[in-house]
Amino acid sequence: MRKGKPYPYEAELTGLVARVFGDLTVTQLQDLLFFHQHSPLVARRRAMLITSRVRMVAAVFALLTPLWIAVDMMIFAWPLWAELAGLRLAATLAFALLAFGFRTSESIRAAHRALIWLLAVPTLFFLVSYPLLSHSDLSGPATAVATGYAFLPFVMVAGLSVFPITAIEGAVFAAPMILAQIAAAFYGDDMNLFSFSSLMGALWLLAVLATVATLAGMSQLHFMMALVNQASHDGLTGAFTRRVGEELFELQFGNAMRTDAPIACVFIDLDNFKSLNDKYGHEEGDRALRAASEGIRKCLRRGDVMVRWGGEEFVLIMPHTDCTGALTAVQRMRTHGIGQRPDGVPQTASVGIAERNADGCADWQHLVEKADQRMYSAKQDGRNRVCLCGGEMISDDMPFLGVPGM
Ligand code: GH3
Ligand code: MG
Ligand code: MG
Repeated sequence: MRKGKPYPYEAELTGLVARVFGDLTVTQLQDLLFFHQHSPLVARRRAMLITSRVRMVAAVFALLTPLWIAVDMMIFAWPLWAELAGLRLAATLAFALLAFGFRTSESIRAAHRALIWLLAVPTLFFLVSYPLLSHSDLSGPATAVATGYAFLPFVMVAGLSVFPITAIEGAVFAAPMILAQIAAAFYGDDMNLFSFSSLMGALWLLAVLATVATLAGMSQLHFMMALVNQASHDGLTGAFTRRVGEELFELQFGNAMRTDAPIACVFIDLDNFKSLNDKYGHEEGDRALRAASEGIRKCLRRGDVMVRWGGEEFVLIMPHTDCTGALTAVQRMRTHGIGQRPDGVPQTASVGIAERNADGCADWQHLVEKADQRMYSAKQDGRNRVCLCGGEMISDDMPFLGVPGM
């Protein structure tokens, strides 16, 4: 499930991308380059992964940063080591706040904030420590340790590889560190720490590191998206699993509440499915179930979500859709059919429709409950019926599927 319209020439582009990048589709490639079009599920998982990793890295740095004070004390003269120690304690505090004060979040904005904070601390540390060291007279081991400080931007850029990021994020997050390197070269030119003969060499290396780290982050993202995709779909029908469906409901219902938009729920239960299994066996039952899910899927719009709620029950989540819109989709199903039973008789289903505004639902559980109750009314009324938001029953002779009275 993703937002937006189909891209022009999507098929041609997919062919081209497949030739260049193996089995990657245009949509997947786009998801690796930019994050705006990520499905809500991927966006949520990614935000949680990034914030939890930021906190983990921050915790490690909060522990390691003050330990180095002992080395500085031995190597540098007073007051340089004390100034560096002050900086280290400030950085430790910032890392500790991030590690222990920041909640693991489901919002990508919060994940970005956490990542910016994590990267800002060493960048500021570098920008302040660099002039301190560059204006000191250093020799022997002190020069070696000071060089370690000068390498900080390289370490940070390489550290981006820890996160499942897109190409655009890699570029945006690496940029301040490259700028910090340029700034340091300008105001610290009397510092003779670098073995690099020129700033260009350092910048080139930083750019290469940033590219490699971003590619590593993108490959993590690709792996994560494949896992999320695989774990969220039911193997038999390809519909979303119930667990993921509940998560998506939570997200979509929340969005609908915030924007005061309609959101419909359609509850579909296949009729007399047990008898099909009993008569023709489980394999035939599975085949009919797959055909039904394909029939339902064909009638949905992009943005609609199909969930396998139970054995032969499907729930549709339809954002920005009112009762009439949901009925239109259901009528499409009735016209096109949802497959046949092994004896050639069209499979029918009983359907209940509910909508947030029409039913005054305060949460998604209430919405599903309403749709479920109406599906049950449709069953009681004789099956192969649609029970609408107001409780009206469509039991027309219009067949769910082209066969009157079915
Ligand atoms: P009703 O019209 O009242 O819904 O009757 P029903 O027989 O469809 O309802 P019931 O809930 O009694 O039975 C559902 C049946 O669906 C039970 C089970 O045999 C079948 N079923 C559930 N999951 C699967 C599946 O994954 N594969 C197959 N083949 N059958 C399944
Ligand atoms: Mg059932
Ligand atoms: Mg049933």
